Amino acid sequence: MKSQARIVIVGGGIMGVALLYHLAEEGCSDILLIEKGELTCGSTWHAAGQCPSLVGNYNLAKIHNYSNWLYPRLEELTGQNVSWHASGGIRLALTQNDLDWFHFMKGIADNVGFRMEIIDAKKIKRINPFISTDGVIAGAWTLDDGHADPSGLTNAMARGATNMGASIQRHDRVTNIEAMPSGEWKVITENRSVIAETVVNAAGCYARQLAQMIGRDLPIVNMQHQYVVTGPIQEFVERNEEIPVIRDPRASSYLRQEQKSGLVGIYEQANMAEAWAPNGFPPWESDSELFPDNLERLMPWLGYAMERMPLFEDAGIKRIVNGAIPHSSDGFPLLGPVAGLKNFWLCCGSSFGIAQGAGCGKYLAQWMLHGDSEINMTGFDPRRFGSYADDSYMQAKGFQDYRMTYFPPLPGEELPAGRPRRLTPLHDKLNAQGCVHTEAFGWERPKWFSLDGRKEDYSFRRNNTFDVVRDECFAVRERVGILDLTGFAKYDVTGPDAESYLNRICANRMPKKPGGIALAHVLSRGGRIGGEMTITRLADDQFYVLSAAAAELRDLDHLTQGRAADEQLEIVNVTDDRGVLVLAGPRSREVLAKITDEKLDDASFRWLSGKEICVAGMPARALRLNYVGELGWELHPAMEHMEAIYDALWQAGEESGIANFGLYAVNSLRLEKAYRGWGAELTNEVTMLDAAMERFIKLDKDNFVGKDATMQQKQAKRIFQLVYFEIEVTDSDVRGGEPIFIGDDCIGVTTSGGYGHFVRKSLGFGYVDPANCEAGTELGIDVLGERCRAIVLKEPAYDPANERLRA
Ligand SMILES: Cc1cc2nc3c(=O)[nH]c(=O)nc-3n(C[C@H](O)[C@H](O)[C@H](O)COP(=O)(O)OP(=O)(O)OC[C@H]3O[C@@H](n4cnc5c(N)ncnc54)[C@H](O)[C@@H]3O)c2cc1C
Repeated sequence: MKSQARIVIVGGGIMGVALLYHLAEEGCSDILLIEKGELTCGSTWHAAGQCPSLVGNYNLAKIHNYSNWLYPRLEELTGQNVSWHASGGIRLALTQNDLDWFHFMKGIADNVGFRMEIIDAKKIKRINPFISTDGVIAGAWTLDDGHADPSGLTNAMARGATNMGASIQRHDRVTNIEAMPSGEWKVITENRSVIAETVVNAAGCYARQLAQMIGRDLPIVNMQHQYVVTGPIQEFVERNEEIPVIRDPRASSYLRQEQKSGLVGIYEQANMAEAWAPNGFPPWESDSELFPDNLERLMPWLGYAMERMPLFEDAGIKRIVNGAIPHSSDGFPLLGPVAGLKNFWLCCGSSFGIAQGAGCGKYLAQWMLHGDSEINMTGFDPRRFGSYADDSYMQAKGFQDYRMTYFPPLPGEELPAGRPRRLTPLHDKLNAQGCVHTEAFGWERPKWFSLDGRKEDYSFRRNNTFDVVRDECFAVRERVGILDLTGFAKYDVTGPDAESYLNRICANRMPKKPGGIALAHVLSRGGRIGGEMTITRLADDQFYVLSAAAAELRDLDHLTQGRAADEQLEIVNVTDDRGVLVLAGPRSREVLAKITDEKLDDASFRWLSGKEICVAGMPARALRLNYVGELGWELHPAMEHMEAIYDALWQAGEESGIANFGLYAVNSLRLEKAYRGWGAELTNEVTMLDAAMERFIKLDKDNFVGKDATMQQKQAKRIFQLVYFEIEVTDSDVRGGEPIFIGDDCIGVTTSGGYGHFVRKSLGFGYVDPANCEAGTELGIDVLGERCRAIVLKEPAYDPANERLRA
């Protein structure tokens, strides 16, 4: 067995093996996978093997779609039987919201490339004559998915990987992992040790234990999940065709044919669900283990399932499988680097590992070997969780995720489990004013203000927050608005080499003079967008760096990991030390002037500059910028001064009509200004050139990460280009993931959108074939099943000359 390998993967379930296969396929064969038992002996072997196409997330849908593309081909590629059943699936809609979700997903299907039809109850009955369609208003019929034997799939990929030169060591448990002074990892097993440049944790239900070996934890709960198999069903025996997998929200279950029997898996609701090893740490000796079955727990959902397929009830239950599934805190897999460590990756936390395995393996392998994946991995990056995700958080979220398997959250829906985590000093005060909070990286952030006590009527369509958000937007555009945006990630970068270092890791140039502000992007070696930061030079050797709340750990890695040993600088994460208040609107200057002696006129405090000032007797970093496109300041005081400064601003602003606003309003206001969003328009899939952000790249700098690739991209033909558009819609706006057409040709995809209340236009962004990006081009965009006319805009719908910002 190897004592040295470029990459060691720990865990031989479908996730680890799929990664092994795809790393080898990408050309890296110096890889060793170590498995404590037989391949698949964890969660994989007993899985029901379904591989649905329909998932409510554009990037996850790409992962599923790739798996569904690969699995039917695996046997031919590797010679190993995988028992692929191309049964397709039908998900049932019981409510209008379910149906709207189908229309939203149909847009994603058209983009991603899997076949999907929305069908009525009659057609469902034609396809599956045994089903009861009581209460069913429609079905989402996906034709390219099915189910397979999970062990077959895993062993096929293992065979494919070893054929390409990868190695697998079975029956050898990893007992410890040590960081070596050389930067390599020492992976210690029961029988030997292996030195590796890179390690991947693919340990399924044991992923937390493995993380603890390197002093980390992961937000994963191992849920027990059961499916039942019925006795043989004569009607199936007499038929050649297989029924599609049925997914029924009422029964919270999947129902399908298992050979000539029936199979029903239930995601039990309320407080019935149970975790395996509730302290999170299963015993090492567990091997191909099933738990005692517990039918009680499945009631009444099993009953509802039998009502849906009465044939199943008649056949009686023959076998029950109860096994463990890892559930991450938000239901998405953990794919990417471990925060703060070099060359330690995660490929775990997948609750649909069979459906996701191949796709996760493919896109993670691209990221590991080439620095980028071809799909947007932001939502899967493990650094989306921080230390706030403690044991109680992961328990609450994991259970919630399990229960919600058949209830995808509606747009805007706030899920209560595990909250609140990170509160600003204004939390209670804003709550008392009707604030509805949303969660980002543990922070509770204002989303909108319910002034009359109304609750949001969650929907894919415009809802009862529409008018409230319009009023918040008008307050910002016509008077002055105030917003607590404390969740921003914040870092102090100081030292004699701070400027040269930041110039090396960012595409833009650092401001030359103290007080200057630059919007700067971190690029990958391949020139794709890794992060976006706002950097203020406070002194010759002092920079204040801000980035998105959700990017706190990601950007900390960007800031710290490129640093050379001899560079003199210090990087400190000060996110928890400072609060952020946004004061924006044409009357913001008169409000702030009442509580500071600092000169605020344009000549004394110009747009895109920042300095330390005194506000209501307290020091605060003041930056003249914002994301809403108005005259205004961001104030960054010490956290303990937040409340006093908010109170002073509120009091000073009463005459000027000050109003609270939230992130719904921010989305509307930033769209009017055509400001791009990190994670939506700016992702690892695209370059600054694709995103029409060339003005933030300084190619005349000596060097910066991604410069060579950017220079090459400038010469190359663009594959897609960002467009900003206005769209004619009825009662729903673009959300991102909608297909963009010219005639019948799908030429792009939207990335985000919303209603611009002040300009009275529905607006959005999307990436299209560059042949169709000229201003004035007419596009067709499918919004909830309706083809809507959109026009590419030349400039921001609001204040294109930035006059308001410079006022
Ligand atoms: C009843 C049931 C039905 C399911 N049905 C479906 C379905 O229809 N479709 C679907 O997509 N998903 C389904 N799942 C979920 C699916 O089984 C899991 O998501 C998937 O198997 C996870 O794969 P994994 O590789 O992450 O974990 P695992 O398969 O558990 O693999 C992890 C491996 O790591 C090994 N390991 C751990 N620690 C060490 C160590 N220290 N040293 C060496 N090796 C180690 C373990 O032995 C194990 O083999 C189902 C699950 C259950 C319980």
